Amino acid sequence: MSADENEVTLKKITAHCKEYGFVFGSSEIYDGLSAAYDYGPNGALLKNNIKEYWWKAMVQMNENIVGLDSSIFMHPKTWKASGHVDAFNDPLIDNKDSKKRYRADVLVEDHIAKIESKISKEVEKATKRFGDSFDEIQFRSTHPRIIGYIEQIRSIQARMMSAVEKGDLEAFKQLIVDLEIVDPVSGSKNWTDVRQFNLMFSTELGSVAEGANTIYLRPETAQGIFVNFSNVQKSSRMKPPFGIAQIGKAFRNEIIARQFIFRMREFEQMEMQFFVKPGEEMKWYEYWKNQRMKWHNSLGLGTDKYRFHDHLNLAHYANAACDIEFDFPMGFKELEGIHSRTDFDLSAHEALSGKKLRYFDPQENESYVPYVVETSIGLDRMFLALLSAAYQEEQLEDGSERIVLKLPPALAPSKVAVLPLINKDGLPEKAQEIFQDLKLDFSAQFDAKDAIGRRYRRQDAIGTPFCITIDHQTIEDHMVTIRERDSMKQERIQITEISNTLEKSVNIKTLLKFN
Ligand code: ATP
Repeated sequence: MSADENEVTLKKITAHCKEYGFVFGSSEIYDGLSAAYDYGPNGALLKNNIKEYWWKAMVQMNENIVGLDSSIFMHPKTWKASGHVDAFNDPLIDNKDSKKRYRADVLVEDHIAKIESKISKEVEKATKRFGDSFDEIQFRSTHPRIIGYIEQIRSIQARMMSAVEKGDLEAFKQLIVDLEIVDPVSGSKNWTDVRQFNLMFSTELGSVAEGANTIYLRPETAQGIFVNFSNVQKSSRMKPPFGIAQIGKAFRNEIIARQFIFRMREFEQMEMQFFVKPGEEMKWYEYWKNQRMKWHNSLGLGTDKYRFHDHLNLAHYANAACDIEFDFPMGFKELEGIHSRTDFDLSAHEALSGKKLRYFDPQENESYVPYVVETSIGLDRMFLALLSAAYQEEQLEDGSERIVLKLPPALAPSKVAVLPLINKDGLPEKAQEIFQDLKLDFSAQFDAKDAIGRRYRRQDAIGTPFCITIDHQTIEDHMVTIRERDSMKQERIQITEISNTLEKSVNIKTLLKFN
């Protein structure tokens, strides 16, 4: 897809989300608040289903993982120990002509992406020219222009890493100047210096007169897990390797918040910290990379939609880290992070609090600070990933068009819609009877308005996997028509068979079996 088409797709998804009650801009009646969003009736259902899938895959399916729900406000020393007060900064640069602000690292990465797309174009051209006999690996390693591009990328990455590691903002600026990066808005190279900007929101605890304390809105849920390490370990009688899972809000004062719900200032994370014996962390890091990819693939969105991206530039606390990237409408971007965080957090909290955060191993007769492997996924980004893959405009055989959300049935906001063919002759009453029964087990809708075709379209647009239609014949033979969303195939089945048929494809079990 071209950049323009990508933009159109994201715009279409945004508009679709609004029209069908998935996502609204926050406080729209006051013209909205940038990068804040509200989830509507269908959005709230979908979000809850994603959470359920993640939570069950973590906590229910693993005897050695337990859950936690810690508070958003935490003692301010937490963020000193974690490094967020001193090091949770983004390098920013302003363009003096457009007055737009950018993350310096993102500008450089976008520049690298442009070079990468030149490589892809060369490969594409050669594939066309050489046809079946084309050897891509050999072509990439021998073609002089491609070798040159790869060298360029390596040298840029090395300069950026060195600037980040040394905190050398002047070197960062020089890199942007040397690469002749232009502002995508104004097209100018008139840049300010690069500055650091802390991403935490702060507020005051208590009234100012009583001597206010600055506290922060948590920028990640992980620290709530670390400070509760001993509470959870002792109360649940866990021993490493074991994990603590948590879903909750996080807040970051992102400078460039854009691309719909991809980057927000208030968002939700699903994080699991896995505590292991020091020295075993790489084994578990590989294990969790693999497990998390299986979790994604079980959704059936297509394995080609995901890829791993290893971090070159490791955070101060990590000894290995990668992202699972997803093919969003704007290209492959980070969806989830998997990090080997060493004992950085627990040791830092021990040092600042003076409280021991260790595990006593009775077999070895020694205590140690566990190492941590973390998996961290943004719930809102997962929501966008699902919608990006599910949203489809289809041309039908009769020449009409439909928009359908091909969501995994187990995650769809409603599993079934019950539709009386016409709104009289006892059909609505019979349909109500069926509906009242189904809603005990399934998130279900009842819709008697408009022609049946329009009602099918409405359900397709919100991703309802099954529609049940009640017609005159139903009253006599106790059979209904069941229509499947993706194939649009219709079948007559007994009323007593409906639950079983639905259960086979909408039960969350169908997804959890990867474990
Ligand atoms: P990015 O590089 O995109 O800023 P990050 O590397 O800072 O992300 P982490 O700190 O690893 O992100 O957070 C874990 C996950 O939380 C991310 O993979 C992402 O899914 C989600 N996330 C982070 N920041 C945001 C945000 N501003 N809006 C929505 N989701 C976010």
